[in-house]
Amino acid sequence: MFFRHEKMRPNQDTLIEDMNFVLKNKLTGLFEAPTGLGKTDAALASVLDFCIENKKKLFFVTTKNTQHKIVIEAIIDINKKYNIDMRVVDLVAKSNFCIDPFLSGLGSEFYDLCEKKIKKQACFPHLNATGKSTQKNKSIDLFLKEYKSAMHSSELREMCLDFDLCPYVVSLLLAKSAQVIVCDANHIFVNKIRSALFGIIGISLDDCVFVFDEAHNLPHRLRSILSDSLSLKQINFARKEYEKCPKEEFDLTDFLETLEYLFVKQKDGFLSDDYFDKLFYDEQVLTALLSADGFILENEKKNSNLHRIANFILSWQTDKQVKTKFKTKDTIYIKGLDPSFLSRLIFQQSSGNILMSATFSPMQMYSDILGIPNPYIRQYGSPFPKENKLTMYFDNVTTKYEERAESLPLIADLIKEKINKVSGNIAVFFPSYDVLESIYLRMSENTIKKIFVQGKNMTANETKRLIDNFKKNKVGFGSVLFAVVGGSFSEGVDYPGDDLIGIIMVGFPFPEPDYEIEALIKFYDSQDKVGWNYAYLYPTVAKVVQACGRGIRSETDKAFVLLLDKRFGWTKYKSLFPTDYNLLKYDNKKFSEFVSKM
Ligand code: SF4
Repeated sequence: MFFRHEKMRPNQDTLIEDMNFVLKNKLTGLFEAPTGLGKTDAALASVLDFCIENKKKLFFVTTKNTQHKIVIEAIIDINKKYNIDMRVVDLVAKSNFCIDPFLSGLGSEFYDLCEKKIKKQACFPHLNATGKSTQKNKSIDLFLKEYKSAMHSSELREMCLDFDLCPYVVSLLLAKSAQVIVCDANHIFVNKIRSALFGIIGISLDDCVFVFDEAHNLPHRLRSILSDSLSLKQINFARKEYEKCPKEEFDLTDFLETLEYLFVKQKDGFLSDDYFDKLFYDEQVLTALLSADGFILENEKKNSNLHRIANFILSWQTDKQVKTKFKTKDTIYIKGLDPSFLSRLIFQQSSGNILMSATFSPMQMYSDILGIPNPYIRQYGSPFPKENKLTMYFDNVTTKYEERAESLPLIADLIKEKINKVSGNIAVFFPSYDVLESIYLRMSENTIKKIFVQGKNMTANETKRLIDNFKKNKVGFGSVLFAVVGGSFSEGVDYPGDDLIGIIMVGFPFPEPDYEIEALIKFYDSQDKVGWNYAYLYPTVAKVVQACGRGIRSETDKAFVLLLDKRFGWTKYKSLFPTDYNLLKYDNKKFSEFVSKM
Protein backbone atom coordinates (compact mmCIF):
# COMPACT_ATOMS: atom_id res chain seq x y z
CA MET A 1 0.00 0.00 0.00
CA PHE A 2 1.33 3.45 -0.91
CA PHE A 3 0.76 5.75 2.06
CA ARG A 4 2.98 8.78 2.37
CA HIS A 5 2.51 9.56 6.09
CA GLU A 6 3.94 7.75 9.08
CA LYS A 7 0.63 7.08 10.78
CA MET A 8 -3.03 7.08 9.87
CA ARG A 9 -5.64 9.48 11.17
CA PRO A 10 -8.69 8.16 13.04
CA ASN A 11 -11.10 6.44 10.60
CA GLN A 12 -8.62 6.64 7.71
CA ASP A 13 -7.88 2.89 7.83
CA THR A 14 -11.63 2.10 7.71
CA LEU A 15 -12.04 4.43 4.76
CA ILE A 16 -9.21 2.63 2.91
CA GLU A 17 -10.74 -0.79 3.64
CA ASP A 18 -14.13 0.40 2.38
CA MET A 19 -12.57 1.75 -0.80
CA ASN A 20 -10.75 -1.57 -1.32
CA PHE A 21 -14.10 -3.34 -1.07
CA VAL A 22 -15.59 -1.06 -3.73
CA LEU A 23 -12.75 -1.72 -6.15
CA LYS A 24 -12.67 -5.47 -5.60
CA ASN A 25 -16.36 -5.63 -6.43
CA LYS A 26 -16.25 -3.15 -9.31
CA LEU A 27 -18.73 -0.86 -7.55
CA THR A 28 -19.28 2.85 -7.18
CA GLY A 29 -18.68 4.10 -3.65
CA LEU A 30 -19.90 7.37 -2.15
CA PHE A 31 -17.82 8.43 0.82
CA GLU A 32 -18.71 11.35 3.03
CA ALA A 33 -15.77 12.17 5.28
CA PRO A 34 -15.06 15.48 7.01
CA THR A 35 -12.16 17.70 6.06
CA GLY A 36 -9.00 16.58 7.80
CA LEU A 37 -9.67 12.86 7.67
CA GLY A 38 -7.26 12.53 4.75
CA LYS A 39 -9.54 11.44 1.89
CA THR A 40 -6.98 12.05 -0.88
CA ASP A 41 -4.29 9.98 0.86
CA ALA A 42 -6.81 7.23 1.63
CA ALA A 43 -7.96 7.10 -2.00
CA LEU A 44 -4.38 6.93 -3.30
CA ALA A 45 -3.49 4.22 -0.77
CA SER A 46 -6.42 2.12 -1.90
CA VAL A 47 -6.61 2.76 -5.63
CA LEU A 48 -2.91 2.79 -6.61
CA ASP A 49 -2.38 -0.77 -5.40
CA PHE A 50 -5.49 -1.95 -7.19
CA CYS A 51 -4.56 -0.20 -10.44
CA ILE A 52 -1.00 -1.51 -10.51
CA GLU A 53 -2.14 -5.05 -9.77
CA ASN A 54 -4.93 -4.96 -12.36
CA LYS A 55 -3.19 -2.83 -15.01
CA LYS A 56 -5.68 0.02 -14.79
CA LYS A 57 -5.17 3.77 -14.97
CA LEU A 58 -6.24 6.00 -12.13
CA PHE A 59 -8.09 9.15 -13.19
CA PHE A 60 -8.23 11.61 -10.32
CA VAL A 61 -11.04 13.93 -11.38
CA THR A 62 -11.69 17.33 -9.84
CA THR A 63 -14.03 20.22 -10.56
CA LYS A 64 -11.41 22.85 -9.66
CA ASN A 65 -7.81 23.19 -10.88
CA THR A 66 -6.66 24.16 -7.37
CA GLN A 67 -7.33 20.58 -6.24
CA HIS A 68 -4.80 19.17 -8.76
CA LYS A 69 -1.81 20.40 -6.81
CA ILE A 70 -2.76 18.41 -3.70
CA VAL A 71 -2.79 15.12 -5.65
CA ILE A 72 0.46 15.85 -7.49
CA GLU A 73 2.21 16.67 -4.21
CA ALA A 74 0.91 13.47 -2.61
CA ILE A 75 2.38 11.41 -5.47
CA ILE A 76 5.71 13.26 -5.29
CA ASP A 77 5.83 12.31 -1.58
CA ILE A 78 4.91 8.69 -2.36
CA ASN A 79 7.65 8.50 -5.00
CA LYS A 80 10.18 9.82 -2.47
CA LYS A 81 9.07 7.59 0.39
CA TYR A 82 9.03 4.36 -1.63
CA ASN A 83 11.89 5.36 -3.90
CA ILE A 84 9.80 4.74 -7.01
CA ASP A 85 9.10 6.67 -10.17
CA MET A 86 5.33 6.57 -10.55
CA ARG A 87 4.28 8.83 -13.40
CA VAL A 88 1.44 11.29 -12.92
CA VAL A 89 0.18 13.72 -15.52
CA ASP A 90 -1.64 16.89 -14.62
CA LEU A 91 -4.10 17.60 -17.44
CA VAL A 92 -5.66 21.04 -17.68
CA ALA A 93 -7.67 22.60 -20.50
CA LYS A 94 -5.70 23.03 -23.73
CA SER A 95 -6.28 26.78 -23.60
CA ASN A 96 -4.60 26.95 -20.16
CA PHE A 97 -1.64 24.92 -21.41
CA CYS A 98 -1.02 26.76 -24.69
CA ILE A 99 2.33 28.57 -25.06
CA ASP A 100 1.48 30.40 -28.28
CA PRO A 101 1.73 34.10 -27.27
CA PHE A 102 -1.10 35.12 -29.61
CA LEU A 103 -3.52 32.38 -28.65
CA SER A 104 -3.05 31.78 -24.94
CA GLY A 105 -5.55 33.79 -22.95
CA LEU A 106 -8.19 33.82 -25.71
CA GLY A 107 -11.78 32.78 -25.01
CA SER A 108 -13.93 30.24 -26.82
CA GLU A 109 -12.28 31.05 -30.17
CA PHE A 110 -9.04 29.52 -28.90
CA TYR A 111 -9.94 25.96 -29.89
CA ASP A 112 -10.81 26.76 -33.50
CA LEU A 113 -7.72 28.92 -33.96
CA CYS A 114 -5.48 26.23 -32.47
CA GLU A 115 -7.03 23.62 -34.80
CA LYS A 116 -6.46 25.88 -37.79
CA LYS A 117 -2.80 26.42 -36.87
CA ILE A 118 -2.28 22.68 -36.52
CA LYS A 119 -3.92 21.98 -39.88
CA LYS A 120 -1.78 24.60 -41.59
CA GLN A 121 1.32 23.19 -39.85
CA ALA A 122 1.90 26.71 -38.54
CA CYS A 123 2.33 25.90 -34.85
CA PHE A 124 6.03 25.13 -34.25
CA PRO A 125 5.60 23.84 -30.68
CA HIS A 126 3.07 21.37 -32.09
CA LEU A 127 5.41 20.32 -34.90
CA ASN A 128 8.23 19.90 -32.38
CA ALA A 129 6.11 17.84 -30.01
CA THR A 130 4.81 15.57 -32.76
CA GLY A 131 8.31 15.02 -34.19
CA LYS A 132 7.49 16.75 -37.49
CA SER A 133 9.91 19.61 -37.00
CA THR A 134 13.36 19.99 -38.46
CA GLN A 135 14.66 21.52 -35.20
CA LYS A 136 16.25 18.31 -33.97
CA ASN A 137 17.76 19.89 -30.83
CA LYS A 138 14.29 20.70 -29.53
CA SER A 139 13.03 17.17 -29.82
CA ILE A 140 10.69 15.49 -27.43
CA ASP A 141 13.44 12.97 -26.57
CA LEU A 142 15.58 15.68 -25.00
CA PHE A 143 12.59 16.90 -23.05
CA LEU A 144 11.85 13.42 -21.72
CA LYS A 145 15.38 13.12 -20.36
CA GLU A 146 14.79 16.11 -18.12
CA TYR A 147 11.15 15.45 -17.29
CA LYS A 148 10.34 14.50 -13.70
CA SER A 149 7.66 11.85 -13.28
CA ALA A 150 5.38 14.04 -11.19
CA MET A 151 5.00 17.70 -12.11
CA HIS A 152 2.33 20.31 -11.70
CA SER A 153 0.82 21.57 -14.99
CA SER A 154 2.38 25.03 -14.54
CA GLU A 155 5.87 23.47 -14.18
CA LEU A 156 5.29 21.29 -17.23
CA ARG A 157 4.20 24.37 -19.18
CA GLU A 158 7.36 26.26 -18.14
CA MET A 159 9.53 23.36 -19.23
CA CYS A 160 7.70 23.10 -22.56
CA LEU A 161 8.32 26.81 -23.12
CA ASP A 162 12.08 26.16 -22.80
CA PHE A 163 11.91 23.28 -25.26
CA ASP A 164 9.38 24.98 -27.57
CA LEU A 165 6.97 22.06 -27.28
CA CYS A 166 3.18 22.14 -27.13
CA PRO A 167 2.41 21.25 -23.48
CA TYR A 168 -0.94 19.71 -24.36
CA VAL A 169 0.55 17.29 -26.88
CA VAL A 170 3.37 16.49 -24.45
CA SER A 171 0.96 15.80 -21.60
CA LEU A 172 -1.06 13.44 -23.81
CA LEU A 173 2.12 11.59 -24.79
CA LEU A 174 3.04 11.29 -21.13
CA ALA A 175 -0.49 10.17 -20.25
CA LYS A 176 -0.02 7.02 -22.34
CA SER A 177 2.50 5.67 -19.87
CA ALA A 178 1.22 7.45 -16.76
CA GLN A 179 -0.20 5.51 -13.84
CA VAL A 180 -2.22 8.50 -12.65
CA ILE A 181 -3.95 11.21 -14.65
CA VAL A 182 -5.24 14.21 -12.74
CA CYS A 183 -7.86 16.00 -14.80
CA ASP A 184 -10.97 18.12 -14.85
CA ALA A 185 -14.54 16.77 -14.89
CA ASN A 186 -14.91 18.04 -18.48
CA HIS A 187 -12.18 15.62 -19.65
CA ILE A 188 -14.39 12.74 -18.54
CA PHE A 189 -17.98 13.92 -18.93
CA VAL A 190 -17.89 15.85 -22.21
CA ASN A 191 -18.20 12.97 -24.67
CA LYS A 192 -16.23 14.67 -27.42
CA ILE A 193 -13.29 15.51 -25.15
CA ARG A 194 -13.23 12.07 -23.50
CA SER A 195 -13.36 10.22 -26.84
CA ALA A 196 -10.45 12.28 -28.20
CA LEU A 197 -8.41 11.83 -25.02
CA PHE A 198 -9.05 8.11 -24.68
CA GLY A 199 -8.41 7.63 -28.40
CA ILE A 200 -4.94 9.20 -28.11
CA ILE A 201 -4.05 7.31 -24.93
CA GLY A 202 -5.51 4.11 -26.40
CA ILE A 203 -7.83 3.13 -23.55
CA SER A 204 -11.51 2.49 -22.90
CA LEU A 205 -13.60 3.14 -19.78
CA ASP A 206 -12.98 -0.39 -18.56
CA ASP A 207 -9.23 0.40 -18.33
CA CYS A 208 -9.91 3.14 -15.78
CA VAL A 209 -10.66 3.64 -12.12
CA PHE A 210 -12.09 7.06 -11.31
CA VAL A 211 -11.71 9.04 -8.11
CA PHE A 212 -13.99 12.08 -8.02
CA ASP A 213 -12.94 14.64 -5.44
CA GLU A 214 -15.44 17.18 -4.05
CA ALA A 215 -18.01 15.06 -5.83
CA HIS A 216 -20.94 17.04 -4.42
CA ASN A 217 -20.13 19.56 -7.19
CA LEU A 218 -20.74 17.03 -9.96
CA PRO A 219 -24.52 17.49 -10.43
CA HIS A 220 -24.11 21.24 -10.92
CA ARG A 221 -21.12 20.83 -13.25
CA LEU A 222 -22.85 18.19 -15.38
CA ARG A 223 -25.98 20.30 -15.69
CA SER A 224 -23.89 23.23 -16.89
CA ILE A 225 -22.27 21.02 -19.56
CA LEU A 226 -25.80 20.39 -20.86
CA SER A 227 -26.79 24.07 -20.74
CA ASP A 228 -26.56 26.98 -23.20
CA SER A 229 -28.15 30.36 -23.95
CA LEU A 230 -28.69 32.84 -26.78
CA SER A 231 -29.56 36.53 -26.49
CA LEU A 232 -31.00 39.17 -28.80
CA LYS A 233 -27.76 41.14 -28.49
CA GLN A 234 -25.76 38.19 -29.82
CA ILE A 235 -28.12 37.89 -32.77
CA ASN A 236 -27.69 41.62 -33.51
CA PHE A 237 -23.90 41.17 -33.50
CA ALA A 238 -24.19 38.06 -35.68
CA ARG A 239 -26.13 40.04 -38.31
CA LYS A 240 -23.39 42.67 -38.42
CA GLU A 241 -20.71 39.99 -38.69
CA TYR A 242 -22.56 38.29 -41.51
CA GLU A 243 -22.58 41.50 -43.53
CA LYS A 244 -18.79 41.14 -43.80
CA CYS A 245 -18.89 37.51 -44.98
CA PRO A 246 -18.86 36.49 -48.66
CA LYS A 247 -22.33 35.19 -49.56
CA GLU A 248 -22.40 31.53 -50.44
CA GLU A 249 -25.04 29.40 -52.11
CA PHE A 250 -27.22 29.44 -49.01
CA ASP A 251 -27.74 33.02 -47.84
CA LEU A 252 -28.28 33.42 -44.09
CA THR A 253 -29.77 36.91 -44.28
CA ASP A 254 -33.38 35.71 -44.11
CA PHE A 255 -32.63 33.28 -41.32
CA LEU A 256 -30.93 35.92 -39.17
CA GLU A 257 -33.68 38.46 -39.80
CA THR A 258 -36.37 35.96 -38.83
CA LEU A 259 -34.46 34.92 -35.73
CA GLU A 260 -34.08 38.53 -34.66
CA TYR A 261 -37.78 39.13 -35.36
CA LEU A 262 -38.77 36.18 -33.17
CA PHE A 263 -36.58 37.41 -30.32
CA VAL A 264 -38.06 40.91 -30.59
CA LYS A 265 -41.57 39.44 -30.75
CA GLN A 266 -40.80 37.45 -27.69
CA LYS A 267 -40.38 40.64 -25.70
CA ASP A 268 -44.12 41.28 -26.03
CA GLY A 269 -45.20 37.79 -25.03
CA PHE A 270 -43.34 34.51 -24.90
CA LEU A 271 -43.45 32.47 -28.08
CA SER A 272 -43.85 28.72 -28.17
CA ASP A 273 -40.94 26.45 -29.13
CA ASP A 274 -42.67 25.61 -32.44
CA TYR A 275 -41.66 28.95 -33.94
CA PHE A 276 -38.00 28.23 -33.22
CA ASP A 277 -38.23 24.55 -34.19
CA LYS A 278 -39.22 25.58 -37.71
CA LEU A 279 -36.14 27.73 -37.96
CA PHE A 280 -33.61 25.51 -36.22
CA TYR A 281 -34.18 22.22 -38.02
CA ASP A 282 -32.55 23.14 -41.30
CA GLU A 283 -29.20 21.51 -42.02
CA GLN A 284 -28.30 24.18 -44.58
CA VAL A 285 -28.56 26.86 -41.90
CA LEU A 286 -26.12 25.07 -39.64
CA THR A 287 -23.61 24.47 -42.43
CA ALA A 288 -23.81 28.09 -43.59
CA LEU A 289 -23.38 29.41 -40.02
CA LEU A 290 -20.23 27.35 -39.50
CA SER A 291 -18.82 28.37 -42.84
CA ALA A 292 -19.43 32.10 -42.15
CA ASP A 293 -17.91 31.65 -38.69
CA GLY A 294 -14.80 30.19 -40.36
CA PHE A 295 -14.46 33.39 -42.39
CA ILE A 296 -14.66 35.64 -39.31
CA LEU A 297 -12.24 33.42 -37.41
CA GLU A 298 -9.76 33.53 -40.26
CA ASN A 299 -9.94 37.29 -40.68
CA GLU A 300 -10.61 38.61 -37.20
CA LYS A 301 -9.03 35.87 -35.07
CA LYS A 302 -12.11 35.53 -32.92
CA ASN A 303 -15.14 33.29 -32.74
CA SER A 304 -18.16 35.01 -34.18
CA ASN A 305 -21.65 35.22 -32.76
CA LEU A 306 -22.60 33.11 -35.78
CA HIS A 307 -20.64 30.37 -34.04
CA ARG A 308 -22.66 30.92 -30.85
CA ILE A 309 -25.90 30.57 -32.82
CA ALA A 310 -24.66 27.34 -34.44
CA ASN A 311 -23.77 25.89 -31.02
CA PHE A 312 -27.11 26.97 -29.61
CA ILE A 313 -28.97 25.25 -32.46
CA LEU A 314 -27.02 22.04 -31.83
CA SER A 315 -27.87 22.24 -28.15
CA TRP A 316 -31.54 22.93 -29.01
CA GLN A 317 -31.67 19.86 -31.25
CA THR A 318 -29.95 17.35 -28.97
CA ASP A 319 -30.66 15.55 -25.70
CA LYS A 320 -34.10 17.15 -25.40
CA GLN A 321 -35.32 14.66 -22.82
CA VAL A 322 -32.82 15.88 -20.20
CA LYS A 323 -33.06 19.62 -20.78
CA THR A 324 -35.57 22.36 -20.31
CA LYS A 325 -35.89 25.70 -22.09
CA PHE A 326 -37.00 28.99 -20.72
CA LYS A 327 -37.22 32.43 -22.16
CA THR A 328 -36.72 35.82 -20.59
CA LYS A 329 -37.36 39.13 -22.34
CA ASP A 330 -34.32 38.88 -24.60
CA THR A 331 -32.61 35.56 -23.90
CA ILE A 332 -33.48 31.90 -24.38
CA TYR A 333 -31.88 29.53 -21.92
CA ILE A 334 -31.40 25.81 -22.32
CA LYS A 335 -30.80 24.25 -18.93
CA GLY A 336 -29.59 20.73 -18.22
CA LEU A 337 -31.80 18.85 -15.78
CA ASP A 338 -30.47 15.33 -15.57
CA PRO A 339 -26.74 14.90 -14.74
CA SER A 340 -27.06 11.11 -14.96
CA PHE A 341 -27.42 11.51 -18.72
CA LEU A 342 -23.65 12.17 -18.76
CA SER A 343 -22.48 10.19 -15.74
CA ARG A 344 -24.41 6.90 -15.90
CA LEU A 345 -22.25 5.42 -18.66
CA ILE A 346 -19.02 6.28 -16.82
CA PHE A 347 -20.15 4.62 -13.61
CA GLN A 348 -21.42 1.55 -15.45
CA GLN A 349 -18.43 0.90 -17.68
CA SER A 350 -15.38 1.83 -15.60
CA SER A 351 -13.53 -0.60 -13.34
CA GLY A 352 -14.59 1.18 -10.16
CA ASN A 353 -15.51 4.64 -8.94
CA ILE A 354 -14.75 6.46 -5.72
CA LEU A 355 -16.77 9.62 -5.07
CA MET A 356 -15.62 11.64 -2.07
CA SER A 357 -16.85 14.77 -0.36
CA ALA A 358 -17.16 16.39 3.04
CA THR A 359 -20.75 17.39 2.23
CA PHE A 360 -22.51 14.52 0.58
CA SER A 361 -25.77 14.42 2.51
CA PRO A 362 -28.23 13.00 1.79
CA MET A 363 -26.09 10.47 -0.01
CA GLN A 364 -28.94 8.53 -1.58
CA MET A 365 -29.96 11.71 -3.40
CA TYR A 366 -26.52 12.12 -4.98
CA SER A 367 -26.54 8.51 -6.02
CA ASP A 368 -30.02 8.90 -7.62
CA ILE A 369 -29.13 12.17 -9.34
CA LEU A 370 -25.91 10.78 -10.79
CA GLY A 371 -27.53 7.51 -11.89
CA ILE A 372 -25.34 5.20 -9.80
CA PRO A 373 -26.53 1.59 -9.79
CA ASN A 374 -26.13 -0.23 -6.41
CA PRO A 375 -24.09 2.46 -4.69
CA TYR A 376 -21.87 1.60 -1.74
CA ILE A 377 -22.50 4.41 0.75
CA ARG A 378 -20.42 5.23 3.82
CA GLN A 379 -20.10 8.19 6.23
CA TYR A 380 -17.27 8.85 8.69
CA GLY A 381 -17.00 11.02 11.79
CA SER A 382 -14.65 13.96 12.18
CA PRO A 383 -11.09 13.15 13.31
CA PHE A 384 -10.92 16.46 15.18
CA PRO A 385 -11.81 17.02 18.85
CA LYS A 386 -15.55 17.75 19.16
CA GLU A 387 -14.90 20.46 21.74
CA ASN A 388 -13.06 22.56 19.12
CA LYS A 389 -16.31 23.50 17.41
CA LEU A 390 -19.48 25.04 18.81
CA THR A 391 -22.54 25.25 16.56
CA MET A 392 -25.62 27.08 17.84
CA TYR A 393 -28.79 28.44 16.27
CA PHE A 394 -30.98 31.39 17.27
CA ASP A 395 -34.69 30.63 17.42
CA ASN A 396 -35.89 34.25 17.54
CA VAL A 397 -34.90 35.35 14.02
CA THR A 398 -35.45 34.18 10.46
CA THR A 399 -35.04 35.32 6.87
CA LYS A 400 -38.31 33.58 5.94
CA TYR A 401 -39.88 36.02 3.50
CA GLU A 402 -43.00 36.86 5.54
CA GLU A 403 -41.01 37.51 8.73
CA ARG A 404 -37.83 38.91 7.21
CA ALA A 405 -38.57 42.62 7.61
CA GLU A 406 -39.21 42.15 11.30
CA SER A 407 -36.08 40.02 11.82
CA LEU A 408 -33.49 42.03 9.89
CA PRO A 409 -32.90 44.71 12.58
CA LEU A 410 -32.53 41.97 15.20
CA ILE A 411 -30.11 40.06 12.97
CA ALA A 412 -28.05 43.21 12.44
CA ASP A 413 -27.87 43.79 16.20
CA LEU A 414 -26.83 40.19 16.83
CA ILE A 415 -24.04 40.39 14.25
CA LYS A 416 -22.83 43.71 15.65
CA GLU A 417 -22.80 42.35 19.17
CA LYS A 418 -20.89 39.18 18.28
CA ILE A 419 -18.28 40.78 16.07
CA ASN A 420 -17.58 43.44 18.67
CA LYS A 421 -17.40 40.92 21.48
CA VAL A 422 -14.95 38.42 19.96
CA SER A 423 -11.46 39.34 18.76
CA GLY A 424 -10.33 37.65 15.56
CA ASN A 425 -11.60 37.08 12.04
CA ILE A 426 -15.28 36.28 11.55
CA ALA A 427 -17.09 35.48 8.30
CA VAL A 428 -20.76 36.34 7.89
CA PHE A 429 -22.53 34.50 5.08
CA PHE A 430 -25.81 35.80 3.65
CA PRO A 431 -28.54 34.11 1.61
CA SER A 432 -28.44 36.88 -1.06
CA TYR A 433 -26.88 40.23 -1.95
CA ASP A 434 -30.11 41.97 -1.02
CA VAL A 435 -29.96 40.69 2.54
CA LEU A 436 -26.21 41.37 2.68
CA GLU A 437 -26.71 44.97 1.59
CA SER A 438 -29.57 45.66 3.94
CA ILE A 439 -27.58 44.34 6.91
CA TYR A 440 -24.40 46.10 5.80
CA LEU A 441 -26.24 49.43 5.74
CA ARG A 442 -27.08 48.95 9.42
CA MET A 443 -23.50 47.97 10.22
CA SER A 444 -21.22 50.82 9.30
CA GLU A 445 -21.44 52.56 12.67
CA ASN A 446 -20.47 50.97 15.95
CA THR A 447 -18.36 48.13 14.58
CA ILE A 448 -14.82 47.80 15.83
CA LYS A 449 -13.71 45.47 13.05
CA LYS A 450 -12.94 46.40 9.49
CA ILE A 451 -15.58 44.91 7.17
CA PHE A 452 -14.56 43.28 3.87
CA VAL A 453 -17.52 42.98 1.52
CA GLN A 454 -17.88 40.65 -1.45
CA GLY A 455 -18.86 42.68 -4.52
CA LYS A 456 -21.25 41.54 -7.22
CA ASN A 457 -19.48 39.93 -10.22
CA MET A 458 -15.98 39.96 -8.72
CA THR A 459 -13.24 38.45 -10.88
CA ALA A 460 -11.13 35.56 -9.59
CA ASN A 461 -8.23 37.96 -8.92
CA GLU A 462 -10.42 40.43 -7.04
CA THR A 463 -11.82 37.58 -4.95
CA LYS A 464 -8.35 36.32 -4.11
CA ARG A 465 -7.15 39.82 -3.17
CA LEU A 466 -10.12 40.37 -0.88
CA ILE A 467 -9.63 37.02 0.86
CA ASP A 468 -5.88 37.68 1.27
CA ASN A 469 -6.55 41.12 2.79
CA PHE A 470 -9.19 39.71 5.11
CA LYS A 471 -6.73 37.06 6.32
CA LYS A 472 -3.96 39.64 6.82
CA ASN A 473 -6.27 41.73 9.02
CA LYS A 474 -6.68 39.03 11.65
CA VAL A 475 -4.43 40.70 14.25
CA GLY A 476 -5.85 42.78 17.10
CA PHE A 477 -9.64 42.99 16.85
CA GLY A 478 -9.53 41.14 13.56
CA SER A 479 -11.88 41.79 10.68
CA VAL A 480 -15.22 40.67 9.26
CA LEU A 481 -15.99 39.20 5.88
CA PHE A 482 -19.47 39.76 4.43
CA ALA A 483 -20.16 37.32 1.60
CA VAL A 484 -22.97 35.42 -0.06
CA VAL A 485 -23.25 31.73 0.74
CA GLY A 486 -22.59 29.29 -2.09
CA GLY A 487 -20.02 31.51 -3.81
CA SER A 488 -16.25 31.42 -4.01
CA PHE A 489 -15.90 32.79 -0.45
CA SER A 490 -17.76 29.96 1.24
CA GLU A 491 -16.62 26.98 -0.87
CA GLY A 492 -13.25 25.73 -2.08
CA VAL A 493 -11.27 28.23 -0.01
CA ASP A 494 -9.45 27.45 3.24
CA TYR A 495 -9.15 29.75 6.23
CA PRO A 496 -6.69 27.73 8.36
CA GLY A 497 -5.68 28.42 11.96
CA ASP A 498 -6.75 31.84 13.21
CA ASP A 499 -7.55 33.10 9.69
CA LEU A 500 -11.13 32.39 10.74
CA ILE A 501 -12.40 31.83 14.28
CA GLY A 502 -16.12 32.24 13.75
CA ILE A 503 -18.83 31.86 11.12
CA ILE A 504 -22.22 33.50 11.23
CA MET A 505 -24.84 32.17 8.83
CA VAL A 506 -27.64 34.65 8.23
CA GLY A 507 -30.90 32.84 7.53
CA PHE A 508 -31.60 29.42 6.09
CA PRO A 509 -30.30 30.33 2.63
CA PHE A 510 -33.00 29.01 0.32
CA PRO A 511 -32.56 30.61 -3.11
CA GLU A 512 -35.44 32.60 -4.62
CA PRO A 513 -37.44 29.97 -6.53
CA ASP A 514 -36.99 30.54 -10.26
CA TYR A 515 -37.90 28.81 -13.49
CA GLU A 516 -34.87 26.53 -13.34
CA ILE A 517 -35.59 25.33 -9.81
CA GLU A 518 -39.23 24.80 -10.67
CA ALA A 519 -38.27 22.78 -13.75
CA LEU A 520 -35.94 20.65 -11.61
CA ILE A 521 -38.66 20.09 -9.01
CA LYS A 522 -41.04 18.93 -11.75
CA PHE A 523 -38.37 16.74 -13.31
CA TYR A 524 -37.57 14.88 -10.08
CA ASP A 525 -41.25 14.62 -9.16
CA SER A 526 -41.74 12.90 -12.51
CA GLN A 527 -38.95 10.46 -11.53
CA ASP A 528 -40.88 9.49 -8.35
CA LYS A 529 -38.52 11.46 -6.11
CA VAL A 530 -39.47 14.35 -3.85
CA GLY A 531 -38.62 17.15 -6.27
CA TRP A 532 -38.69 19.92 -3.67
CA ASN A 533 -36.07 18.11 -1.59
CA TYR A 534 -33.82 17.21 -4.53
CA ALA A 535 -33.96 20.56 -6.28
CA TYR A 536 -34.31 22.98 -3.40
CA LEU A 537 -33.87 21.77 0.16
CA TYR A 538 -30.87 19.41 -0.05
CA PRO A 539 -28.69 21.68 -2.22
CA THR A 540 -29.36 24.49 0.29
CA VAL A 541 -28.24 22.34 3.23
CA ALA A 542 -25.10 21.38 1.27
CA LYS A 543 -24.26 25.08 0.86
CA VAL A 544 -24.65 25.68 4.60
CA VAL A 545 -22.44 22.72 5.51
CA GLN A 546 -19.76 23.86 3.05
CA ALA A 547 -19.72 27.38 4.49
CA CYS A 548 -19.77 26.22 8.12
CA GLY A 549 -16.88 23.84 7.50
CA ARG A 550 -14.51 26.70 6.59
CA GLY A 551 -13.40 27.31 10.19
CA ILE A 552 -12.00 23.89 11.15
CA ARG A 553 -9.32 22.59 8.82
CA SER A 554 -6.93 20.89 11.30
CA GLU A 555 -6.76 19.27 14.73
CA THR A 556 -5.77 22.52 16.43
CA ASP A 557 -8.33 24.83 14.75
CA LYS A 558 -11.17 26.13 16.91
CA ALA A 559 -14.26 27.89 15.61
CA PHE A 560 -17.82 28.80 16.51
CA VAL A 561 -20.74 28.70 14.11
CA LEU A 562 -23.83 30.81 14.78
CA LEU A 563 -26.89 30.06 12.66
CA LEU A 564 -29.27 33.01 12.64
CA ASP A 565 -32.55 31.36 11.75
CA LYS A 566 -35.10 29.46 13.80
CA ARG A 567 -35.47 26.90 10.99
CA PHE A 568 -32.09 25.39 11.93
CA GLY A 569 -33.85 24.10 15.05
CA TRP A 570 -36.60 22.32 13.09
CA THR A 571 -36.15 18.55 13.23
CA LYS A 572 -36.85 18.09 9.51
CA TYR A 573 -33.91 20.36 8.65
CA LYS A 574 -31.64 19.50 11.58
CA SER A 575 -31.67 15.83 10.61
CA LEU A 576 -30.13 16.63 7.22
CA PHE A 577 -26.81 17.78 8.68
CA PRO A 578 -23.82 15.39 8.79
CA THR A 579 -23.54 13.16 11.84
CA ASP A 580 -20.72 15.18 13.42
CA TYR A 581 -22.91 18.31 13.59
CA ASN A 582 -24.31 18.98 17.03
CA LEU A 583 -26.77 21.85 16.51
CA LEU A 584 -27.59 23.47 19.87
CA LYS A 585 -29.99 26.26 20.72
CA TYR A 586 -28.05 29.45 21.46
CA ASP A 587 -26.85 29.68 25.04
CA ASN A 588 -24.97 32.84 25.95
CA LYS A 589 -23.05 31.23 28.82
CA LYS A 590 -21.80 28.38 26.61
CA PHE A 591 -20.86 30.81 23.88
CA SER A 592 -18.91 33.10 26.27
CA GLU A 593 -17.08 30.14 27.78
CA PHE A 594 -16.15 28.83 24.35
CA VAL A 595 -14.82 32.13 23.01
CA SER A 596 -12.93 32.87 26.23
CA LYS A 597 -10.83 29.75 25.60
CA MET A 598 -10.06 30.53 21.97
S1 SF4 B 1 -1.02 23.19 -30.78
FE1 SF4 B 1 -0.45 23.58 -28.67
S2 SF4 B 1 0.94 25.32 -28.67
FE2 SF4 B 1 -0.05 25.20 -30.69
S3 SF4 B 1 -1.74 26.60 -30.52
FE3 SF4 B 1 -2.53 24.60 -30.00
S4 SF4 B 1 -2.30 24.40 -27.77
FE4 SF4 B 1 -1.09 26.16 -28.43
